[in-house]
Amino acid sequence: MHAPSRSLRVSAIVPAAGSGTRFGAGRNKTLLLLEGEPLIAHVVRALGADPRVVEIVLVGKAAEREELLRAATRGCAPRVALRWAAGGAERRDSVRNGLEAADPTSEILLVHDGARPFLSAEVLARVIDAAVAQGAALCTLPAVDTVKRVDAAGRVLATLDRREIHLAQTPQAFRRELGLPAYRRACEEGWPTTDDVHVLELAAASGALPSVVAVPGDPRNRKITVPADLPTAHPEARAMNPPATGGPSFRVGSGFDLHRMVEGRPCILGGVRFEHDRGPLGHSDGDALLHALTDALLGAAGLDDLGTFFPDSDPRWKGADSAALLREAWTRVREQGYTLENCDLVVIAEKPKLAPRRAELRARIAALLEVEIERVNLKGKTAEKLGPIGAGEAIVAQATVLLRRG
Ligand code: MG
Repeated sequence: MHAPSRSLRVSAIVPAAGSGTRFGAGRNKTLLLLEGEPLIAHVVRALGADPRVVEIVLVGKAAEREELLRAATRGCAPRVALRWAAGGAERRDSVRNGLEAADPTSEILLVHDGARPFLSAEVLARVIDAAVAQGAALCTLPAVDTVKRVDAAGRVLATLDRREIHLAQTPQAFRRELGLPAYRRACEEGWPTTDDVHVLELAAASGALPSVVAVPGDPRNRKITVPADLPTAHPEARAMNPPATGGPSFRVGSGFDLHRMVEGRPCILGGVRFEHDRGPLGHSDGDALLHALTDALLGAAGLDDLGTFFPDSDPRWKGADSAALLREAWTRVREQGYTLENCDLVVIAEKPKLAPRRAELRARIAALLEVEIERVNLKGKTAEKLGPIGAGEAIVAQATVLLRRG
């Protein structure tokens, strides 16, 4: 192996268009949480562990661009550039788009699955070193079980020499001047390929390229394919595979909101309408209590805040029913495997008076969250006539929530 050159530049391409259909989640599985962080953030952090990796090109669906980049940024070292390329019809086309978008001064182009979060720095370095030395490389695992070739009718045709059977993982890497022309040809001529360096193997078979080499991978560097691979990140996974520690985990969240109270607006609070000559000003219905609660739930789950999910610059949310926004956000939180242990809510306002309708408010919020009323507490305070809240010109709400998983 060559000693790694300090000035060598590696661009990592990460296909992250996974639809998550095998999860039944209907969501991109690279956005599911592992230990409170999206899978893609783990992947980006693992790739950035090698100082030769200078940029990471995410390849995905246009509709998921913002969410994927935001999630990936959480794991991205400041010295690594994060770029975007649009996905193609097949993995090969997606990877090619990523390769084309990569910095042309990178000598090594490396491809790593967006759903392999457990990549070690050792395996990454091994693949890069081998690609530098040999032109193209991937990491593999030895086959543990005996491998049979079987026909469609189930008849065993042969027992293969297991020593020659390797199972492919990623990363897979190659020198730019070898890989890029091969990829362009493969896409234009529609070569049937099943993984990334397969393109280079086919080119090598025609004598145009050196052979691809295999270096040892790591059994822990597995791909998240089915819920059981991700023990605590999805309710389905939780049911199949309870946490190894046996105990539940808890996460706390807090939310705050303030709205100006103006004449001529309906007074909506906690999803309930009050008779009052003023109401909260806002792009949506201005329900400060539900906004604070929504932010607390999202915050406890480690997700983005209300304003990011439902930006007030987006005309879709103009006059929006905050109860619908709460339910949408709560669905996202529950998708991560959480249930509500309890929430404690405070409203600070001179008017309207909450006390007479406290039970109704608790019941309404419990119904929105689909939990027992005992899990929702609420209290009303005044500001002792002090400041804008005391003058009835503003309303404030605070929320504290506790989420449970497992
Ligand atoms: Mg608000």
